[in-house]
Amino acid sequence: MVLETEETMTDWIEIDRDEKHIAHEKAKAKELRKSGWWKQQLAVGLCHYCGQKFPPEELTMDHIVPIVRGGKSKKGNVVPACKECNNKKKYLTPVEILMNQTDSPEPEKSES
Ligand SMILES: [Zn+2]
Repeated sequence: MVLETEETMTDWIEIDRDEKHIAHEKAKAKELRKSGWWKQQLAVGLCHYCGQKFPPEELTMDHIVPIVRGGKSKKGNVVPACKECNNKKKYLTPVEILMNQTDSPEPEKSES
């Protein structure tokens, strides 16, 4: 008898399941980009991360909580970021650190 427990690996991949969310939020980000609010952010020109001032064309729209992680395209989660910070952020974010902490619960091996 073979127990069918091999499929648990697929539980790790949630991106497929969130495809609708991603498509939806990406569309919303596009809309937000056209909004007066966003244009104002660009006019101010401050990078959310390094706090330096940049011309609008140097700034990108960044999601503090990435869409793929369930983040939404709305004020508060969407910030202007300079290209450099945006690139850096891909490797390490405060959210990433948090996620890493919650994703890997400490292995509690009872020694009883
Ligand atoms: Zn920056």
